[in-house]
Amino acid sequence: MTTNEKGKYTGKVAFVTGGANGIGRATALAFAREGAHVVVADIAEPGNQETAHMIEELGGQAIAVRCDVTQAEDVKAALAKTVEAFGRLDFAFNNAGIEPRKPAPTAEYEEEEWNRIVDTNLRGVFLCMKHEIPLILKQGGGAIVNTSSGAGIIGIKGSPAYTAAKHGVIGLTKAAALDYAAQNIRVNAVCPGYIDTPMMGRFTGGTAEGRAKVIAEEPIGRMGKPEEIAAAVLWLCSDGAAFVIGHAMVIDGGQTVQ
Ligand code: NAP
Repeated sequence: MTTNEKGKYTGKVAFVTGGANGIGRATALAFAREGAHVVVADIAEPGNQETAHMIEELGGQAIAVRCDVTQAEDVKAALAKTVEAFGRLDFAFNNAGIEPRKPAPTAEYEEEEWNRIVDTNLRGVFLCMKHEIPLILKQGGGAIVNTSSGAGIIGIKGSPAYTAAKHGVIGLTKAAALDYAAQNIRVNAVCPGYIDTPMMGRFTGGTAEGRAKVIAEEPIGRMGKPEEIAAAVLWLCSDGAAFVIGHAMVIDGGQTVQ
C-alpha cells in the first residue's frame, strides 16, 4: 500500500521516537500511509534511516534523526530539525524504550540498571513531551501518545524498574493530559501486550520455546503485531478520539484481563 495524498493526516507532521524498529517503525509507516510527514527519531542508526527510506518508497516524506531520548539536547535538536524540514508538529508518539537486562527481585536490583530503565522509559517520555508541547501549541493543538505497557497496569515479578517506569508513564500521561486538555492537546498512552518486535526477540531469546512461553500468557493465543499498536496510536491521534483524554489504552490480547 502506498501513501495516501488524501489521507486522514495529509498536511500533518508526526514525530516518532523508537522509530527504527518494532512498534515505532510500524507506527511511522502507518502515519505515512495516511499522508503525514514523519520524523523517525531513534538512537539506532541505520535503522531510523531505513524506516525513512521505507516511507519514501511508499511515496511519503520522512527524515531520520539520531536522537537519544535521555538527552535533552538531542530531543531539542531533533524537534528543531522537524520544524526545519516540515514547518510544524501535530503528533508525537513517545515510544522509545528498553527492556531490562535480566530479572532480579527488588532488593537485589542493581541501582545502575534501575537508573538506565527509568531514564529511558520514563524520563525520556517527559523530556520529549516537555519539548514537543510548545511546538504543538504553536499551531493550535494536536495529539501525543506515550508508550506504556502491560507492565503499566500490573506488576511484573522480578522487574521493579520496568514496572515502575511504565506505571509512571501512565501517571505522567494523565498529568500532562490535564495540563493541556483545554489547549487542544490530547495526551494518551498505549499499553501493548507481547508484541512481535526485535525487543520481544531478545526477551524470548528468539527460540520456539521462548516464544511459546510468552504466547502461553496471551489468552488470544498469539503475540500481537506492531501494526496492531500502530492502529491504536493512529486512532488516538484522530478526530474520532476527540473526547479521549489521559486514557491508557490496553492492546494486549487479554494478557492483563486475567
Ligand atoms: P524495539 O524493537 O527494541 O524498538 C525500540 C527502539 O527504540 C529501538 O530502535 C531502540 O534502539 C530505540 N531506543 C532505545 N533507547 C533509545 C533512546 N534512549 N533514545 C531513542 N531511541 C531509543 O522495541 P519495541 O518492542 O518496538 O518497543 C517499543 C516500545 O514499546 C518500548 O517503549 C517498549 O517498552 C514498549 N513495549 C513493547 C512491548 C513488546 O512486547 N514488544 C510490550 C509492551 C511495551 P536500540 O535497538 O539501539 O536499543
